[in-house]
Amino acid sequence: LMQLSIPLNFIGFIYREIRQGLTDIEQMFDLLDVEQEVKDKPNAKALQIDRGTVRFDNVQFAYDPKRPILKGVSFEVPAGKTVAIVGPSGAGKSTLSRLLFRFYDIQSGSISIDGQDIRDVTQESLRSAIGMVPQDTVLFNDSIAYNIRYGRVSATDEEMRNAAELAQIGPFINTLPEGYQAMVGERGLKLSGGEKQRVAIARTILKAPPILILDEATSALDSATEHEIQSALDLVSRDRTTLVIAHRLSTIIGADEIIVLKDGVIAERGTHTKLLKIKGLYASMWNRQREATEAEERLRRVQAED
Ligand code: ADP
Ligand code: MG
Repeated sequence: LMQLSIPLNFIGFIYREIRQGLTDIEQMFDLLDVEQEVKDKPNAKALQIDRGTVRFDNVQFAYDPKRPILKGVSFEVPAGKTVAIVGPSGAGKSTLSRLLFRFYDIQSGSISIDGQDIRDVTQESLRSAIGMVPQDTVLFNDSIAYNIRYGRVSATDEEMRNAAELAQIGPFINTLPEGYQAMVGERGLKLSGGEKQRVAIARTILKAPPILILDEATSALDSATEHEIQSALDLVSRDRTTLVIAHRLSTIIGADEIIVLKDGVIAERGTHTKLLKIKGLYASMWNRQREATEAEERLRRVQAED
């Protein structure tokens, strides 16, 4: 009986995570790796959102005690502002978003929202306050309408359609013979990465969370699609506390603050202009990406001439 009850509990846990809006398969696998589940304190209260200020204060974290990932990271995302996290792969950027969701508890320091330590509030209230557009969106084998309305099941048809329009997926859906009732997934319509991402953005627009996390949300897309998605993302993040984990630096030029994370510490921080001036890590990443983009464009021009 013991042997049976543990996995069943665990399936229950995963199921709750899915219900709470976690549909990112990468993170589901991350969760499967985690044995200890974070627990609500007996006296945990619902998070009271005032304006949605997020603070990381001297956060230290390791998945494995022998290998520290964050070695004292402090920053604030003021209410309604956008802070971008950049840095080499493996630096701990996605870890920051998992910690804000409290998938793991930190070893020292604190993470708070509007002055409340996230360990003191219920996980349900915490997760309902945060919207995430993940790196790789996984959709349910159900209709497009269902997949969008998942952001807020009580939404009306009109609200759902408005969200789809804002996310720039509306015109595409209208070309489908079955429209919003078209089934997606294994036995239905195959959506491209960009289309799936726009469905995820529509879902987040409907959820209208005070706090938003965009995790490399426009990576792995061609530049035309990226451009369309970027304008949808700019729209969702306007006036909303936003933490954006960026791959393409061109998408975060306007961020209120850019944080360069490297080897578990903040190596540089400031606006795009300031970081270019100091000619450090950010400036060299920027120059590398610009050269790559220029090379791509030259290649495209040559191919177009053929
Ligand atoms: P980034 O998003 O900056 O590329 P991550 O935050 O995903 O980096 O990962 C930071 C480091 O933590 C990496 O070295 C990664 O291998 C490690 N890591 C990520 N998830 C886990 C996990 N569930 N268990 C152990 N190590 C992990
Ligand atoms: Mg990552």
